[in-house]
Amino acid sequence: MAENAHTQPCADADDLPELSSGDSDDDQEQWQSMEEDSQPVVTCLFCDRFQNSVTETLQHCSSEHHVNLIDVINKFNLDDYGYIKLINFIRSTKCDPSHLMAQPDGPLQWESEDFLRPVIQDDPLLQIDLTDLCGNEGKVESTSGPSVDDADYNSLLLRTTMAEEAMAQNVETIQKLQLLLHHLVLREEPPGSSTKVSSITELRADEDDAYFSSYGHYAIHEEMLKDKVRTETYRDFMYKNPELFKDKVVLDVGCGTCILSMFAARAGAKKVIAVDQSDIIYQAMDIVRSNKLEDKITCIKGRIEDINLPVEKVDIIISEWMGYFLLFESMLDSVFVARDLYLDDGGSVYPDLCNLSLAAVGDKQKHQESIAFWDDVYGFKMSCMKKFVGTEAVVEVLSADTLISEPTVVQTFDCNKMRLSELEFSSNFCLKITNTTDCTAIVGYFDVFFDKNCCKKVMFSTGPQATKTHWKQTVFQLAKPFPVQAGEELRGKITVCKNKKDPRSLCVTFELRDKKLTYSVM
Ligand code: SAH
Repeated sequence: MAENAHTQPCADADDLPELSSGDSDDDQEQWQSMEEDSQPVVTCLFCDRFQNSVTETLQHCSSEHHVNLIDVINKFNLDDYGYIKLINFIRSTKCDPSHLMAQPDGPLQWESEDFLRPVIQDDPLLQIDLTDLCGNEGKVESTSGPSVDDADYNSLLLRTTMAEEAMAQNVETIQKLQLLLHHLVLREEPPGSSTKVSSITELRADEDDAYFSSYGHYAIHEEMLKDKVRTETYRDFMYKNPELFKDKVVLDVGCGTCILSMFAARAGAKKVIAVDQSDIIYQAMDIVRSNKLEDKITCIKGRIEDINLPVEKVDIIISEWMGYFLLFESMLDSVFVARDLYLDDGGSVYPDLCNLSLAAVGDKQKHQESIAFWDDVYGFKMSCMKKFVGTEAVVEVLSADTLISEPTVVQTFDCNKMRLSELEFSSNFCLKITNTTDCTAIVGYFDVFFDKNCCKKVMFSTGPQATKTHWKQTVFQLAKPFPVQAGEELRGKITVCKNKKDPRSLCVTFELRDKKLTYSVM
C-alpha cells in the first residue's frame, strides 16, 4: 500500500501525557494509592468541599448553603426514586440552593428519568436509606435555626453511621476484587477459584468490572483525546469522506466521550448509536446534549455483547479498540461481535486495516542499565529482579536510531473479514539487519488504515519513526543479547495468544536463534 497516498497528521510530542511503563514500583504505588483513595469522602451538593461522612455533609449543606435536605424531601414528599433524582439533579445542574425550595407549581425540576443516573460514581449520598434518613421526621439543623432535638439528631447520626459502615463493607469488597484482579494479572490462581476463561466474550460482567471502571475515569479519555495523531486521523477520515457518511446509520462501539460519534454526525450520518459499558456514558449523554446532537446521536449504556440496539442493521461501525501491541485489551473481539450481529451487507467497519510490525533493536546501554541496575539499588543487591527482564514486555517510546533492522509486517488485520479465532496467531518473520552490533530487543508496533471505499485514505503509525502516540511502542528485551551482522536475515517466529486466565492480556512468544522467549503484555 502506497504510504504517500495516506495523510499523517502531526502531533506535538509534548502534548502527550506519559503512560505508565509497567514498572513494578509504579504498580506498587498505584495499588497503594488505590487503597488510599478508597477512604469514603462525600462531595458537597453545592460546592467543591469534601466531608468525611454523610452526616457532616448534611450539616455542611444546612449551615453553609442553608438547605436542609430532609426539609426538601418532606416538602416534596419524595420517595426513594425522587430522592435519587433530586441528588443527581443538584449535582448535574449545579443548581442554586435557593431554587430548590422555590420549586414552581407543576412537574418537579428533577422529574426526568435522566436524573436516575448517578453523576458521581458510588455517590455516598445515594447509598443511604431514605427511611433511615427521614423515618423519624429526622431533622438536621434547619436553615431557619437549630431545631434538632437531641434524640432525633442522635438517631440520625446512628443511622448514617450504619450506612457508612455498610459503605465501608462495599469498599472492602472492592478491595477484594482489586486483589482478585491482581492475581489474574500476575497469572496466579486466585484462592478458591478454578474457572478458566480464554475469551472476553466468556467473561462474566463482574469479572470485567475493573476493566470498565478504569474507563469510567475522565483521565483516560483526556489522554486519548489529547493524542492528536489518533484523534485527528479518525476526524480526518470522517470529515474528508463525507460521501461515506451521508444519511448512513453508524454504530460507535465503545463511544467513551462520544468524540467519534460527533465526528460521524458532523460528517453527515443520519443516525449514530453510541454504546459504552463504562460510566463515561453518562458524561457522553451530557456532551451530546451540550452540542445539540441529541436528535442524531443515541447513547446506550451496556456491553455491546449484551444490549439490544434500537435498529436491526447499521451501515458503518466505527471504533477505537486498539490497545498496546494492537491486541492488548481484546476489544477487537467486541467489534467483531457487533459486526457479526449488526453490520448490513455492504457495510464496513472502520478502521478497516491494521498492520502489526516488528524490528530488531540494538541498545547496549539501555540493556546494560536495565540489567545492571538491579545489582546495586541504593547500596542494596536486588539481582533476583533480573529474571523479570525477558518475561514482561515494556511499553515505552523507543528512539528510532536504536533500530538495527528494517521493520517487517508480521500480521495484517482486516477488520471486515477476520474471524475471532484469527486474533491468536503464529507468523514466521525475517528481519533484514542493517547494523553490525548486538541485538538487545525486538520492538513491536502497529499502523492503522482507513481505506475501504474512501476517496481520501488516511492512516497513522505508532512506530518509532513516527510521531509519538499514547500507545508508544512495545519492547521485548532479550535476557541474552546476541551479535548480528549488517546484511544478515534474522529469521524467527512470533506467536500471539490471549492469556488463558486474563483474556484481556497477551502472551507473546518469539522463537529466535533456537531459543523460545515468552513475554506477557499487560
Ligand atoms: N471512542 C472513544 C473511547 C475509546 S476507549 C474515543 O475514541 O475516545 C474504548 C471504550 O470502549 C471505553 O470507553 C470502554 O468502556 C468501551 N468498551 C470496551 N469494550 C466494550 C464493550 N464490549 N461494550 C461496550 N463498551 C465497550
